[in-house]
Amino acid sequence: MTSTLTPSTSRASFAIGSEQTAKRVVDRLTESFFEGQAAIAAFEGPDGRWDVTVHFTESPDQDSIRELVGLAAGDEVARDITFDTIEAKDWVKTTLEGLVPVRAGRFIVHGSHDRSKVAPNQLGIEIEAALAFGTGHHGTTRGCLLLLDHVLRAYRPRRVLDLGTGTGVLAIAAAKALQGKVLASDIDPLSVRTARENARLNGAGNLVQTIQASGFSAPEFADRGPFDLVLANILANPLKQMATPMARHLARSAVVILSGLLPPQANGVIAAYRARGVMLLKHLQIEGWSSLLMRYTR
Ligand code: SAH
Repeated sequence: MTSTLTPSTSRASFAIGSEQTAKRVVDRLTESFFEGQAAIAAFEGPDGRWDVTVHFTESPDQDSIRELVGLAAGDEVARDITFDTIEAKDWVKTTLEGLVPVRAGRFIVHGSHDRSKVAPNQLGIEIEAALAFGTGHHGTTRGCLLLLDHVLRAYRPRRVLDLGTGTGVLAIAAAKALQGKVLASDIDPLSVRTARENARLNGAGNLVQTIQASGFSAPEFADRGPFDLVLANILANPLKQMATPMARHLARSAVVILSGLLPPQANGVIAAYRARGVMLLKHLQIEGWSSLLMRYTR
């Protein structure tokens, strides 16, 4: 039964020599897929080489992917793309074993084996199976946690939303820090289940409400909003598309934390939100990813 609930995922991986080319490829791929069809990640290696991984919800046409990547990065890169399928059980087995805890302000994200390393003045978030994105090791998650830590020093939001919750890491962080309720949503049913399980594991099961939805397309957003704080660590294009529905669900002077964008994509996202009255306060860059702190001025 569980195997039908945890489908396998197709993956394409390749390496690129320069940051500029990597960004061009990421942009090209992001433009070519509808939201929810593909998740694209680019990481800079210590040698300056960029590793790009694309996860597809449905098995992609390999020739078209090669052609798309070839146009942006050249034939050699396109030829060297490897395609594989990740079986659901491999995802489930992936744990944070061996990964060091990640600190971000008051927060520390850790696996169960590092539970004892959480200091009394730290707020631990235990994330076990890396079944969904969001172990805290990614620059975008850390950027969001740092901005969340910063915001909560002087602000106590009542209605909180974590859009694209993945493992639930940001929702759990906010719920624990505020001892308050958080709505956590994801387009991916597997992420929703993982987030729910992780919230329970972290003693925040009754604070974090998880729902499956694409963007703001569920009645819960209107029921639980308007929000005083929205965390959305997704990708540049879906974030831009969500600017209008997001603004509609914001309370006066709401704080918005956006992440999942590469620095060259940041201006486009900032402009889309500015047009809806959401203004940039702070722009963090971590490991080649941008995180934005914004405030609703309407
Ligand atoms: N919030 C987590 C996970 C970020 S990964 C963290 O900070 O670590 C981005 C998540 O957004 C994925 O789980 C993906 O399934 C989800 N997502 C992508 N497009 C979405 C959309 N249109 N609506 C809701 N969730 C979406």
